[in-house]
Amino acid sequence: MEIWHRVSFSKKDNVKECLDANSISYKEALLPGDSYMLTIEIKETDADWSIIKPLIKLNTFDFVWTEFTIDEIKNAMWSLVRPSFSIGSPVGNPWDSVENRCDSCGVGWKQTHPIYLKKEPNMKGNAFASFHGGFELLGASNIIQILKEEKVNGFQEIDLLIKSSNLSSPSVKFISVLKVANPGYVNINTKQHLCPICNNTWFDFHKLGNFRIGKNTFEKTLDFQLTNEWFGSGRAARREIICSSKFVNLALENKWKGLQFIPVIVD
Ligand SMILES: [Zn+2]
Repeated sequence: MEIWHRVSFSKKDNVKECLDANSISYKEALLPGDSYMLTIEIKETDADWSIIKPLIKLNTFDFVWTEFTIDEIKNAMWSLVRPSFSIGSPVGNPWDSVENRCDSCGVGWKQTHPIYLKKEPNMKGNAFASFHGGFELLGASNIIQILKEEKVNGFQEIDLLIKSSNLSSPSVKFISVLKVANPGYVNINTKQHLCPICNNTWFDFHKLGNFRIGKNTFEKTLDFQLTNEWFGSGRAARREIICSSKFVNLALENKWKGLQFIPVIVD
């Protein structure tokens, strides 16, 4: 497991001299006037991290993610699964096809109405995808057929409709996961929020390290289920999709593209 940071410093952060003195390489983007932006991608096990870390202030742009080894992913009983490829946006506002959503934080929504696409999507060789938002899991029809043959359970396929013809897309389906797991997210370093409008709580997106849960959180007989907890960035909270090792290993063996896995640790 490696925790990565993409850090951007502006001219006023005054770090260029320090980076140059330590021979730390960066990408420089020139901005109007004599401003600039310096961007560094670095993992926390890199020797230079001890120099970069103290330079990161509260308002520094620091995008964090975790990369896991194949063995870490293979050995986990559960993984959080996120699509990593986008087919673009559906027609109209994606929130028009859901109900019960808090307008402020997004908690509570359920997919209730058909989703329309402008045209037949191009999956570009990916087995799975999302719209730009990334909270949906879409699957190529031939892959969903394999999942059914392999008796992967816990999901329903829902047609995506092509706006011009009103016919369903033959190549891509919406993978609808309905079962909500028991509460059990073990929060170590993720900020929790209380929505003043709907009075529900939600967490920032989980980014650092494994996703941790308590015992008896997930239903053992299901290959797909949703976390009880909601995660988001402010307005578009969602439940994360959890998948079984059976699905993960099928995806790895078949080299299906378009997915990211975060292995779950049961505390
Ligand atoms: Zn709310």
